[in-house]
Amino acid sequence: MPASDFDMNEIHWLMDMFNTVDVGLVVLDRDYRVCIWNGFMENHSGLLPSAVKDKDVFDLFPGIDESWFRGKAEPVFVLKNRSFTIWEQQPYIFRFKNYRPITGKAEYMYQNATFIPLTTVTGEVGHICVILYDVTDEAMNKLELEKANKTLEEMSRTDALTKLSNRGFWEESLRKEFKRLKRNHGCSTLLMFDIDFFKRINDEYGHSGGDEAIRHLSDLLKKTLRETDIAGRYGGEEFAVTLVDTDAEGAMIFAERLRCMIENSVIYYDKKEIKLTVSLGIASYDESFNKHEQWIEAADAALYHSKENGRNKVTIYEPSMSQ
Ligand code: GH3
Ligand code: MG
Ligand code: MG
Repeated sequence: MPASDFDMNEIHWLMDMFNTVDVGLVVLDRDYRVCIWNGFMENHSGLLPSAVKDKDVFDLFPGIDESWFRGKAEPVFVLKNRSFTIWEQQPYIFRFKNYRPITGKAEYMYQNATFIPLTTVTGEVGHICVILYDVTDEAMNKLELEKANKTLEEMSRTDALTKLSNRGFWEESLRKEFKRLKRNHGCSTLLMFDIDFFKRINDEYGHSGGDEAIRHLSDLLKKTLRETDIAGRYGGEEFAVTLVDTDAEGAMIFAERLRCMIENSVIYYDKKEIKLTVSLGIASYDESFNKHEQWIEAADAALYHSKENGRNKVTIYEPSMSQ
């Protein structure tokens, strides 16, 4: 085979490979006009090389963030360095549909890209090549994993029945609030409450009826909370709320409103009506507490006082109750 035929063959092969390779290859000139556009780019954009040739890439793809793109490309022209973009910074450069069967859920193709300088024989950089990688699989795996981790984290601090904070998470938040108050000498109040005669509700309506009652009560509680209040399911049918930056008087208003709402509300279960009441105890933060557990004990003592004195009432803690 003559040498010239061999060269022609090589060019032919190279063109075949260039058009078949599963990465995008785009050559841009100094004015960001498209010079070369391979098969990958054609297939995913639906634009033939003849349709993009010598066109401004920002006119062809108005979705490209021009200043960001120039920020990546200019140093390649000027400094002759490579530069890279990853999907975590910018999910894609060219918005292409995603056709992958496994990651079909992705709205578009996630892309990483490398920008390389193309030098002339005299060593000048008049063009750059953008190499585009489809990283949709990798991106979706990472995003799904992040989502799963977030769900797991939420589950680990949420009570399954009521969707309130569980005891561990609630108590940890109280401990933090306690430390904050020790430093700043502010005032927050702890409210604890327990359903009255709940065993009877379980006996009369079954455990599922009891569960429904707990869920209903939790929903009422959520409706009365402010953004800053932290509510948790402390035990089976015991609840705790940290009322941040609230004194005993403010907590009393909150507690009375909650008590009345619960007393007046009806739970419909299995074509029957369930009514219930709660007993509540209030304890404001006191400088004399050494540990957050003492704060809980104070609110619990006030709650016990409500139970002992007829139930369906609110009691504010007094030190005599601890004796
Ligand atoms: P008191 O007025 O003194 O609080 O009377 P009580 O019957 O409510 O007594 P106590 O608070 O000691 O009883 C709690 C009962 O709540 C015991 C348990 O069977 C029931 N319980 C605890 N957790 C759950 C739960 O998740 N679901 C249901 N259905 N019942 C629960
Ligand atoms: Mg009870
Ligand atoms: Mg109880």
